[in-house]
Amino acid sequence: MTNQQKNDFTKWYIDTIQKADLMDYTPVRGCIAFKPDGYEIWEHIQDEMNRRFKETGHRNAYFPMLIPESFFQKEKDHIEGFAPELPWVTEAAGEKLEERLALRPTSETMIGHLYSDWIKSYRDLPVLINQWANVFRWEKKTLPFIRTSEFLWQEGHTAHVDEEEARQETMQMLNIYKEVVEELLAIPVYDGQKTPSERFAGAVDTYSIEAMMKDGKAVQAGTSHYLGTKFAEAFDIKYLNKENKHQHVHTTSWGTSTRLIGSVIMVHGDEQGLVLPPRVAPTQVVLIPVGPWKKNPAIMEKLEELYAALKSKGIRVRLDDSDQSPGYKFNEWELKGVPVRIELGPRDLENNQALIKVRDLSEKESVEIAVLVERIEEELTTMQTRLLEKARAFRDENSHTNVDTLEQLKQHLADSTENGEIPGWILAGWCGDDACEENVKNETKFTTRNIPFNPPAEKTTCINCGKDSKHTVWFGRSY
Ligand SMILES: [Zn+2]
Repeated sequence: MTNQQKNDFTKWYIDTIQKADLMDYTPVRGCIAFKPDGYEIWEHIQDEMNRRFKETGHRNAYFPMLIPESFFQKEKDHIEGFAPELPWVTEAAGEKLEERLALRPTSETMIGHLYSDWIKSYRDLPVLINQWANVFRWEKKTLPFIRTSEFLWQEGHTAHVDEEEARQETMQMLNIYKEVVEELLAIPVYDGQKTPSERFAGAVDTYSIEAMMKDGKAVQAGTSHYLGTKFAEAFDIKYLNKENKHQHVHTTSWGTSTRLIGSVIMVHGDEQGLVLPPRVAPTQVVLIPVGPWKKNPAIMEKLEELYAALKSKGIRVRLDDSDQSPGYKFNEWELKGVPVRIELGPRDLENNQALIKVRDLSEKESVEIAVLVERIEEELTTMQTRLLEKARAFRDENSHTNVDTLEQLKQHLADSTENGEIPGWILAGWCGDDACEENVKNETKFTTRNIPFNPPAEKTTCINCGKDSKHTVWFGRSY
């Protein structure tokens, strides 16, 4: 962490996204505008997700944003979970509606209603549908990208003949999320199961991937739910099986949202601003003329040649020939997190060289123009890998496995504050009692993140009550 990040991480985060021109606030509280550079990060996430969804047999569809109130009443846990944050449409065209309509917080109910019509026989299964949409959850405390009242996401909704197939789907999608977040966003995650109190409202089991931000807080970066037959029973989704008997389908749902954009910024950003992994950077390479380049047309000619060569390799490249000073431009493009900057001035050109600066490395380097394109391709690949490795090293360093009791956790928190370190996460045992989980939260603000599939250690006693543990769990503060 840099000094600015240490002093006030939230302020650093908001400054960074504003300087990078990713978003703007609007007069509607908690609703932000995504500016082109912010939205394009989302588009790269969408492209990669869509590729993998389609590879695994899913198709995109679209469902309405307004959901009748009666739909929510059909699944008890679901309405209890979402009711406090629902915005309602109560009148239209000057008249009061007979039934209030909610702005969707998620679409299980509307989709459940429709699937009961679409699914009649085992021949109609599985149904593998994803939707890209905006959803609303009227949050009290908001933070751009990370928690907003309206956000963008994808929600997959599938229906299957039995539990086994639905559970396979649930895990398959969690794995896809893990791969995309690690490979595309260079963010390492712990995959695992949520505890019952942290489950999605209406799910039988919820699984998540959890990422650690630079301030040590967790972001739940994606969730996948096995819904059993709960929604099938609530919405009467039945099919005729091969034995000619009516059966309820088993459903799943899974989602990732634009909070992934916030996570990329909070995981990789530094004192100079944004640092973007090359694979999601709207601009991967920027070319900047330096020195008295306006008097020397050969410089722009060479830069245009390089621009075309990089573009032909599929690299997202910009040539900045504005009349700002080079120093101003360097700063601007660093703030935007552009992975590689190429500088070319008269002396460089004379020596058939250009200077390159990789965003997360401190030194500039001279590179022969003849091998420059090849070299840039290499730098983008190695930077992508390096960012993931750095983030993994940071996370591992701040994932503590030596805190086993509530007293030790309190001591750990006191020590971290005293040493100016982040508390990070701890791996501890849990007996399975909600009250123990609740007490840890009340005393320390540490909540259960997930029960990891592959914990680095096994914990045998509950952090709160000291009894035998049922699970080994990640605890941490979260967004
Ligand atoms: Zn306990």
